[in-house]
Amino acid sequence: MKPALIVHGGAWDIPDEAVDACKSGCHHALKAGWSILSRGGSALDAIEAAIVVLEDDPVFDAGYGSHLNFDGHVECDAMVMNGATLRAGAAATLQRVKNPIRLARKILENCPHMMLVAGGAERFAKEQGIKLCKPEELVSEAEREAWMKCKTDKHAAEHHRGHEQGTVGAVALDATGNLFAATSTGGTCCKLPGRVGDSPLIGCGCYADSEAGGASCTGYGEAIMRVVMAKTAVDLLRHPATCVDTPPNISCGTSTASLAAREAVHLLAKRTHGTGGLVLLDRAGNPGFAFNTPRMAYGFVALDGSFVTAV
Ligand code: ASP
Repeated sequence: MKPALIVHGGAWDIPDEAVDACKSGCHHALKAGWSILSRGGSALDAIEAAIVVLEDDPVFDAGYGSHLNFDGHVECDAMVMNGATLRAGAAATLQRVKNPIRLARKILENCPHMMLVAGGAERFAKEQGIKLCKPEELVSEAEREAWMKCKTDKHAAEHHRGHEQGTVGAVALDATGNLFAATSTGGTCCKLPGRVGDSPLIGCGCYADSEAGGASCTGYGEAIMRVVMAKTAVDLLRHPATCVDTPPNISCGTSTASLAAREAVHLLAKRTHGTGGLVLLDRAGNPGFAFNTPRMAYGFVALDGSFVTAV
């Protein structure tokens, strides 16, 4: 089987001055994941490596540099799903885990439950050998400033101009046919403490089924959850012929996989008036993407092994 990898760095109104940083972040994530996949490594190792790069990059809203919640704290959510077993590992409202995807993987591999949150999740992280950080180590100066402006004025997107960021995600297929999808986020700026969005919820922000494909979503979580967008997109991959609509205002690729992605975003817009986007791989590893936000940062490995990144 030919390995495949696609990543995203969020779908929002990414300002011109952040475009290069978003593309370069996606490029580095592809490099980290592809160095594993191209040598016959596992999709799980590759997806973890790619997401860690994106989480560590403060241009994205995941791990270090995430948006702050109403109280000024970072609270992260993450999930990884195995397309062969339909098992997933998810964690939410983490304040002391530098790389939430590493904990999601530990939950997938070593926990009888699918999802852990807050203190219980952090206790499990520690038991699994993941060092906890101080909550303030996840806060970037840019996000602290944006939060202060939101607090003293009112929460407004323009306070984030210049560093508006996005959730991160990836889908990977390895040479033995294993397919994984993953999503990691700091959620929405000024969210209420304890708010959990679509990203760590199975089928909403992330889904993988080796019989059809895998997807990772980004955008307004409260809307994405209502149409269970990742599972919807993966189910559309089973019947690509049904994706015949020509919805307006959706940017997408031309592959059959992109038509399924487009149809899922169309459903999001039609039924919830929400905005967002997603990346996916079909079960053969063909990449697809679609979004109805002004921009989305994404990247994939083309058939000739070159990295395609775009915003
Ligand atoms: N979907 C994420 C959430 O609602 C936000 C994003 O994708 O940027 O938590």
